[in-house]
Amino acid sequence: MRTINNIFVHCTATQPSATIEALRNGFRARGWHAPGYHYVIEADGTLRRLWAEEHVANGVRGYNQHAIHVAYIGGIDTEGRPKDTRTCAQRTTLEALLRLLHWHYPTARIRGHREVNPNKACPSYDVQSERQNWEED
Ligand SMILES: [Zn+2]
Repeated sequence: MRTINNIFVHCTATQPSATIEALRNGFRARGWHAPGYHYVIEADGTLRRLWAEEHVANGVRGYNQHAIHVAYIGGIDTEGRPKDTRTCAQRTTLEALLRLLHWHYPTARIRGHREVNPNKACPSYDVQSERQNWEED
């Protein structure tokens, strides 16, 4: 099993209606064999697994060997500016998934992509402020 040090939260930086197939095509267009995320949460809250946790995905250069990547579909407004577009259903699924991953990897840090790359807005919300709501449970 891989050692997991970081669990990164992302947005796909697409419209919330983007499909899994469109995401996969985007990864292929970049020449990536592995997708950018292990898990993706669709606008209706459906959790889709794109890649097994034991395999390395392409979410954050320099961190991928020991990371799991989670993304919600969306994260930009209609003008392409960063915006927290999460639906209620996406928030619910995301929280449940992060709780589960935290339980599986209790020593891994959960953080937003932008926390290690200030040039990025991803995931368009503050992961730390929400995480405090449940981490001490
Ligand atoms: Zn990201």
